[in-house]
Amino acid sequence: MTTNWPDLDAVQSWDAADPLAACRARFALPVGTIYLDGNSLGALPRATAARVADAVTRQWGTDLIASWNKHGWIEAPARLGARIAPLIGASPDEVIVADSTSVNLFKLLAAACAARPDRSTILAEPGNFPTDLYVANGVAKMMPGRSVRTVPAAQIAAAIDQDTAVVLLTHVHYKTGAMLDMAGITAAAHRAGALILWDLSHSAGAVELDLNGCSVDLAIGCGYKYLNGGPGAPAFLFVARALQQTLSSPLSGWMGHAAPFDFGDEYAPAPGVRRFLCGTPPILAMSALESGLDTFDGTTLAQLVAKSRRLGDLLIAGIEARCVRHGFTLVTPRDPLARGSHVSIAHPHAWEICQALIARGVVGDFRAPDVLRLGLTPLYTSFEDVWQAVDRLAAVMDEGAWRDPAFAERAAVT
Ligand SMILES: *Cc1c(COP(=O)(O)O)cnc(C)c1O
Repeated sequence: MTTNWPDLDAVQSWDAADPLAACRARFALPVGTIYLDGNSLGALPRATAARVADAVTRQWGTDLIASWNKHGWIEAPARLGARIAPLIGASPDEVIVADSTSVNLFKLLAAACAARPDRSTILAEPGNFPTDLYVANGVAKMMPGRSVRTVPAAQIAAAIDQDTAVVLLTHVHYKTGAMLDMAGITAAAHRAGALILWDLSHSAGAVELDLNGCSVDLAIGCGYKYLNGGPGAPAFLFVARALQQTLSSPLSGWMGHAAPFDFGDEYAPAPGVRRFLCGTPPILAMSALESGLDTFDGTTLAQLVAKSRRLGDLLIAGIEARCVRHGFTLVTPRDPLARGSHVSIAHPHAWEICQALIARGVVGDFRAPDVLRLGLTPLYTSFEDVWQAVDRLAAVMDEGAWRDPAFAERAAVT
């Protein structure tokens, strides 16, 4: 035991003084559950069911096709993009909501490669979230002479050279929780004449982001993690204003046309970021995402970031004080400036421990082969949640509860 671990009373007083404490009531969290998986699927906002029901019953049911204009359906991709912009340090006209993260990655990566025709390499990190590498390889296969080169994150900046067309990196690593130096790596890419594309899936809504301050070219991110948009929510993409006229989407669908309702035979891309839309936006899913974005109302990015870091500090202190002796190793960097908003710990029985923890009301998740991930969502995770989670994890280990054979069974989705 170290002296670093506070009493429950102390932690409750931090919650009482937390400027974001009131935001928790915006979510319909099940009673008795400590939800530490908002980095994988954000919790359900209380307002979402009524919001989606209104889009279905009144807008679709009653106003029918008039809703495209009357209820702003056609503007939803740009409207939601503009609301994500302040969370990522972008201008409202640089962000648009569309498709999935994987599809947005395809569109921007192919556009970036086409904009650097004399360079052959997509530079990426091995061990990135699989879809990022799969899509990068798919793009390379489609474009003659292109290939994907993977280099460990720590060596990426030094590996960018005259042959690098685009550097593709995930800002906060999904498994380790490590956060990369966006400003430094972006500058290194630009010095070598390459473009950079950041995946913000585990960043947006929880960590410090300043895309324009870092002169980032391109970014993508997820709507269903910290943005609380619901399972499979539409994703977002960012294209810096300076690049919007020069890049073109490989999925040249009609919603990205300058004048979709002219119904002309010739494709002419929309002037701004809207050219990266493809087909008709999924309005019901968009309405859920809009409700997710409402949960950020009245908060500042600085508040979110400060709380995320304090939650992480507390969780790491608790793991070190009460759990490390049971064979856990801390995977996530201890430095709050070098980590995102989840904490990962490794243990040879991480799967069973994760299941035993869920049985005690603490929902985290498992990432193969041996990582237990605990996500911290500044809008609704309390300091007491973290304290209780550590207490229950310590109990699971002290009692050996994870050895129950029922916890060894594997599910399809981890
Ligand atoms: C969650 C996540 C995705 C998700 O992609 P989908 O197309 O929504 O399935 C992509 N990349 C990273 C880094 C992620 O963490």
